[in-house]
Amino acid sequence: MNLSKSRYTLGIRCKKLLWLSCFKKAEAEDLGNESVLENGNKVGDLARGLFGNYTLINYDDNYKNMIDETKKELLNKPNIICEASFSYDGNFCSVDILKNDLDGVEIYEVKSSTELKDIYKDDVAYQTWVLKKLGYNVKKSFVVYVNRNYVKNGELDISKYFIKEDVTDKIDLDKVENEIKSLKKIINSKDEPNIDLSLGCHKPYDCPFFKYCTKNLKEPNIFNIGWNVQIKKKLEMYYKGIITYKDILDAGGLNEKANEQMRFELYDLPPKINKEKIEKFLSQISYPLYFLDFESYQESIPTIDGTKPYQQLCFQYSLHYYLKEDGELHHKEYLSDDYNGNPMYGLCKQLCDDIPMNSCVLVYNKKFEISRLKEMASLFPEFREHLLNIADNIVDLLVPFQNQDYYVKEMAGSASIKKVLPALFPNDPSLDYHNLEQVHKGDEASNAYLSLKNLPKEEELKLRDNMLKYCGLDTYAMVKIYKKIKKL
Ligand code: SF4
Repeated sequence: MNLSKSRYTLGIRCKKLLWLSCFKKAEAEDLGNESVLENGNKVGDLARGLFGNYTLINYDDNYKNMIDETKKELLNKPNIICEASFSYDGNFCSVDILKNDLDGVEIYEVKSSTELKDIYKDDVAYQTWVLKKLGYNVKKSFVVYVNRNYVKNGELDISKYFIKEDVTDKIDLDKVENEIKSLKKIINSKDEPNIDLSLGCHKPYDCPFFKYCTKNLKEPNIFNIGWNVQIKKKLEMYYKGIITYKDILDAGGLNEKANEQMRFELYDLPPKINKEKIEKFLSQISYPLYFLDFESYQESIPTIDGTKPYQQLCFQYSLHYYLKEDGELHHKEYLSDDYNGNPMYGLCKQLCDDIPMNSCVLVYNKKFEISRLKEMASLFPEFREHLLNIADNIVDLLVPFQNQDYYVKEMAGSASIKKVLPALFPNDPSLDYHNLEQVHKGDEASNAYLSLKNLPKEEELKLRDNMLKYCGLDTYAMVKIYKKIKKL
């Protein structure tokens, strides 16, 4: 079996990951990276124009055709070749952008990320090694990635959108050669490498084989603990053989919240409710009372003036509200139909009509809603004062659960609404996201919004209806949770 740049980088992350990807692919979990891939493709296509005109080597299952095509194009120097393909001794690579100058070449590896990760340098180092072995004068090697501070203003300025980082001096070709030798042995062996868990299981990315690699550990174990216990700490205990909840508690435990999670699950403890703390939390709440939830999507390449790459762009909200305590529950909602424009203008306009100034607004996990309100306030000066006023009056319903003032064992170390809701209302089908159609979680709502403009009218209306139901359930769930803790 031969190496490619993606196999090489998998092997750098973990040799077992490389082997499993080659021989036990079916064991990989789907970590939902579809939108990451899609963004990667869009950014990669855009980057091809970085140096003006270019020639693209089209993908071919038969790599030899790509290599032959590249050889022909290399003769036309100076030129720019995208997906220029090479192979040396069974090591294949396609260079995202090859600057083919009269006196040598420059390699540009394009990433859709907004930070320069070490693994990208390994990627470009492998390509540099292949080309140097083939006798090319590689003058410089670069990683190209997205400038997170770029703000679109008029025509997209590709030279400012991308950052080109020269990593030539960081490349150690002897190291690459040794790695290639050892990775070739791995992929040409029938034996699964015997490699233990490490920090690399979660960094720079979560490994899709984590479940497979921990399948022999008795559940629940150290890796099922929530409450922000760092993976480094978990691994320390795992290496010492402190793995089950009982082992961990006997060894002195972790932080208090984690210990509580373990005790609740081990000893099947009844719900813990700190009425005094909950009362204090509820004392901040006043009427009229609004329950707000936004849905948003991200664009790797911003199309809206004033926004940055990957900024969260709100297109929908749901708003349940009581005008007075013990009054009737009302509902309002917004879902943009401005599919090709800026969905946030109409949203802000209606939001300011729907929530009067100085009203108490309950959200779940306020960081998200407050950040969105502030971003939209800076985009639309006419709504600025009102949006900031809404942000100032937000109360976070997450707090009593995050502080474990209300804790039941089914929350399993998490205060996220997706855990809290079924834990508090285990047998209520009206609160079960599984019973919804088409849209059941945030990323599905984002993808649904982005797909609306291309759907036939009937399908568009059906999907919009299901999007409204999903977002409506988010705020209805907050109402139910609020009422439950209020009853206490
Ligand atoms: S879970 Fe960890 S040990 Fe297992 S393949 Fe992935 S990175 Fe390697």
